[in-house]
Amino acid sequence: MSEEKLYEQFPENTAEITPMMRQYMDVKRQYMDCLLMYRLGDFYEMFFRDAKTASAELDLTLTGRQCGLELRAAMCGVPYHSVDAYVARLIARGYKVAICDQTEDPATAKGLVDRGVTRVVTPGTVTDASMLEGDANNYLCAICADEHGAGMSFCDISTGQALVTELPADFTDQAIEECGLYNPREVLLSDGASNDRFLTALRQRGCLTERCDTRFDPDTAADRVRAQFSDAPALQEVLASPYATRALAALLSYLAETQMTTLGNLRTLERYSRAQYMMLDEVARRNLELFQTLRGHEKKGSLWWVLAHTATTMGARTLRRWMEQPLMQPAAIGRRLNAVEVLFEEPAVRRAIAEELSGIQDLERLISRAALGTANARDLQSIGASVARVPEIKRQLGMLDCELLRSLYGELDELTDIASLLDAAIADNPPVTLRDGGLIRRGYDHEVDKLRVLVDDSRALLSSIEQRERERTGIKTLKIGYNKVFGYYLEVSRAAAAQVPEDYIRKQTLVNGERYITPELKDLETQVLSAKDRITGLEYEVFEHVRKTVAEATPRIQQTAAALAQLDVLQNFAELAVKNDYRRPTVDAGDALVITDGRHPVIEQILGKRAFIANDTRLDCGEHRMAIITGPNMAGKSTYMRQTALIVLMAQLGSFVPAGTARIGVCDRIFTRIGASDDLSAGQSTFMVEMSEVAEIIRSATSRSLLILDEIGRGTSTYDGMSIARAVLEYVADKKKLGARTMFATHYHELTELSEILEGVKNYATAVKKRGDDITFLRRIVPGGADDSYGIEVAKLAGVPEPVIRRAKEILKSLESGGTVRVTGRKRPETPQVSLTDFGAVELVSRIRRLNLDEMSPMQALNLLYELKTTAERLP
Ligand code: ATP
Repeated sequence: MSEEKLYEQFPENTAEITPMMRQYMDVKRQYMDCLLMYRLGDFYEMFFRDAKTASAELDLTLTGRQCGLELRAAMCGVPYHSVDAYVARLIARGYKVAICDQTEDPATAKGLVDRGVTRVVTPGTVTDASMLEGDANNYLCAICADEHGAGMSFCDISTGQALVTELPADFTDQAIEECGLYNPREVLLSDGASNDRFLTALRQRGCLTERCDTRFDPDTAADRVRAQFSDAPALQEVLASPYATRALAALLSYLAETQMTTLGNLRTLERYSRAQYMMLDEVARRNLELFQTLRGHEKKGSLWWVLAHTATTMGARTLRRWMEQPLMQPAAIGRRLNAVEVLFEEPAVRRAIAEELSGIQDLERLISRAALGTANARDLQSIGASVARVPEIKRQLGMLDCELLRSLYGELDELTDIASLLDAAIADNPPVTLRDGGLIRRGYDHEVDKLRVLVDDSRALLSSIEQRERERTGIKTLKIGYNKVFGYYLEVSRAAAAQVPEDYIRKQTLVNGERYITPELKDLETQVLSAKDRITGLEYEVFEHVRKTVAEATPRIQQTAAALAQLDVLQNFAELAVKNDYRRPTVDAGDALVITDGRHPVIEQILGKRAFIANDTRLDCGEHRMAIITGPNMAGKSTYMRQTALIVLMAQLGSFVPAGTARIGVCDRIFTRIGASDDLSAGQSTFMVEMSEVAEIIRSATSRSLLILDEIGRGTSTYDGMSIARAVLEYVADKKKLGARTMFATHYHELTELSEILEGVKNYATAVKKRGDDITFLRRIVPGGADDSYGIEVAKLAGVPEPVIRRAKEILKSLESGGTVRVTGRKRPETPQVSLTDFGAVELVSRIRRLNLDEMSPMQALNLLYELKTTAERLP
């Protein structure tokens, strides 16, 4: 029988099933999409298919359990005290887990203990720090679409932030882009949003997807959103967008089910639109190696590796958001730069602030756990220790004067009430668990203290009983002991057993002694044990009360945490500026991009600042629209172009930049087309990937964009490639069509002549020193085109063996003189080899044959004629 059938048919099967298995199935049927961990004694057990999956994923031994069915249930389990570690591993692998606990005390239960699911843990809704990356948000996403429109919502329940945005009805491209940016772990989809292309893209990202149209109910969406975000300033703006509202409502319904509590921490709501920020698509983020390197996918070697030295994890997450969404308004950028400058100029204050910040834990996530009722005593203690540092930070910040820092100052709540509450209430080194006592500090709660005195007194009482009985009986070896089976007992040695008085009741005989109880001892035992029980119960109650008080301060703590995170990023920028010799850029709404002595922020760290050769850049929308950069491989073309893009990006984050001076006319988007992408897994050839990136650039770039184009057209035959490259350049440079600031690196030296034909095009080359057969890269960018590609010299430099180099030179010589190439060491083939120049002629003829003259405008025809002539002229 299949598992689904088993659950479906279960009501008819009741007689055949054991009561425990009946209860298990009842629960499991409500959580078919989760692995259900079912508490049995000291273990959480899984059954049937769940057991097989978990045993494979977690390396657990698979056993079986007879459950009154024709089929023996597969079973495996994990000890209850280490369940969280196992859950974390399952979540990391993209599973959802439902935890089913005993909901009544097994000691007092009649028959089968009641059980129910107490929490559902899913990749997009976890709040446990051990399952989360500190420096990145953890988003759950929902998308609602039909033929008229679409909206999307993201929520990080671990920090309490929600974002919404509206999308066009043909939402797929943009939705994929947004998911590339926010990297959600789970996505909820309405029926209209579940198209194959989107689903495939999400699955490729390793995203868990769920189609759940009913959660997107248009009738209840607005009320649900209103109820959750009644205080959020952006509420009305969000409600004005029905698709986004429905997406957000779907998230709220899912979160309510998984968290099983009110979402007290979810208060921050933002409606955003892509147009607010500089756009960096996934290709650009990858090519510019913002968060990981292209080749090894490693953090080391990325811009993040250079910039992310914030003192707190909250600061790191904020920096990541800033890097994903650089600003575009010069005024807003200027505010951040002013703050960095003030912090730069006040090293003592900056260091004092950084020092205090370094003692602050992840308040955003800790307060979320407090608000959701999952924080333990250690979490509260961390909140206490962190907020205790705010007054000193505020005092230091008060000494600095600039607009942004003043506004952060205003947002910092000193939270002294919370700090002193937690300091007074929470014991030192509290345990992780909440049911074993040890949570509350002495002196905080009168009742807890009273019970503790009782326990302490009874200890004293026990020792006085021991003393008294020794004297009464004359047995010197008499002592009081305790075990779980008999409780307190009096133990005497075998030899002394005859001296035992009559009122002792014998309980146990050992090899060397006898154990007894007395009514007095039993009375005391009841008192002590019940006091101990009451203490742990009471401590839990007191703790819950403290946690609730802290949770009520959620808005104040969240606001303070957000201000601290921003301050952290700003002080980090200032510190980086000092450490790495970055300078303040001038950012304005003009189109000039003038950098002197610019450096690549990452490569200079790897090579050391002295070894890096600084270069200038000049681009604008007029005379210097396009820089065509030629030079041999390895000479530094890519580095130079990337450094320009990274300097622009850093400036638009509000950071100082690795340059002598920099004037940055804001860019609305950075496009990159660099080398061969490794998107081959998606089933596209290198050339196809290259051309779709070019297509995207032509479709979406504006005259405000910055284009970094490396080696366009290399993935196809020389003439096709060069033609495409040239056509792209002509289009991009043309003010009427695009006219965007562009850097273009190429090996096609022929393209350098464009500078004479097209307005705004300038040639640059990477300077090389040649001595005999050897070349040295000077790493300097100089005006003018390169005179040679030095391919063979570079090959030699790279260690290609001498015989191959010699042969390459021979071939080159022959080709340059228009001759044919003979294959060495083999008989000459029957048909003569086609020379490169013949290839050119063949290509030219085949292009002319393929032309469709009827579809060409006179202008296009003229351009083509011109192009064909240039090509033909190059043939001998
Ligand atoms: P290809 O055409 O093969 O892509 P390229 O001309 O783009 O080569 P890069 O990849 O930019 O060359 O640079 C090659 C290496 O040269 C870099 O990894 C770096 O180590 C070094 N390099 C580049 N620019 C500089 C510089 N300005 N100062 C010092 N070293 C540099």
